[in-house]
Amino acid sequence: LPLSNRASLVGPPEFSLLKFLLRNSDSYELVPKKKIQEETEFNPTQLEYYLAKLLKLKLIYHEKNLGYDAYKITFSGIDVISIKKLYESRILKSLSTIIGEGKESEVYAGYDFDDNKIVVKFHRIGRTSYKSLRRVNKDPYGRKSWVRLSIENAEAEYKALTCMWKNGARVPRPIGLGVNAIAMELIDGVQLSEKPELGDPEKVLDEIISTIKIAYTCCKIIHGDLSPYNIMVTNDIPYIIDWPQSSRASEETLYRDLSHIISFFEKEYEIVREIPQILSYIRG
Ligand code: ATP
Ligand code: MN
Ligand code: MN
Ligand code: MN
Repeated sequence: LPLSNRASLVGPPEFSLLKFLLRNSDSYELVPKKKIQEETEFNPTQLEYYLAKLLKLKLIYHEKNLGYDAYKITFSGIDVISIKKLYESRILKSLSTIIGEGKESEVYAGYDFDDNKIVVKFHRIGRTSYKSLRRVNKDPYGRKSWVRLSIENAEAEYKALTCMWKNGARVPRPIGLGVNAIAMELIDGVQLSEKPELGDPEKVLDEIISTIKIAYTCCKIIHGDLSPYNIMVTNDIPYIIDWPQSSRASEETLYRDLSHIISFFEKEYEIVREIPQILSYIRG
């Protein structure tokens, strides 16, 4: 069942149960049914009914092999909480189709309350890649839950987009933050990796460089995963997307980001630039 339909089947009691499981996901890998019974308002019959309903929608997981019943929220469960939160803050009226699937996310089109098309990116760290899980897990004590990491990534991307946007950078305008999801402007364009025909490739490259400069000087961040796949072009204007891993990373990261772009423009658009000059422009 599509995410949007599942969200609409969740009524207030199931929703509060989902939120209870989310709140407890930091301290409990699996939440004992006994705890749920003790700390929620439901009588045993109601609880049974709502758990079964959430289970059927695959918004929670039921563990039976511990000697007692225990539950945890699934990624889809967190997605549904995000959808409801964005709906209640009148940011997202309805969710539409999936438009992109990254290593660490699912990206959907949707509509705001004025029927403008927008984008909702659901962060799902650790869904496919153990490597990405390790990369974001900077906690020296390790062992943050995937739920926590996904939430932190959404927050980091929202914060980065907000700073970039306020400083006039070419990024999708951030519209709202769910739990593990961000709503943002839809860029109706193509990925630079598709090698679109550019009216003025020099100007496009300059625009990308000034976005990197805004990130570095105003927001104190480095994208960290910059490549032609994370640049969307429309009417010769390049928008840089996919900011969750951005950080005050090493100068090496800045160099690597830049060299991906410079070599792409050299190969595909025959533009030759020297990285050291660009670096001193960005830092200056
Ligand atoms: P990756 O695997 O590269 O880390 P990701 O999971 O972090 O990807 P994004 O790169 O942010 O996800 O988005 C995945 C895809 O969704 C993009 O390549 C793009 O096609 C589409 N997309 C994301 N944001 C937007 C947007 N604001 N407007 C239009 N399309 C978008
Ligand atoms: Mn990537
Ligand atoms: Mn990407
Ligand atoms: Mn990414």
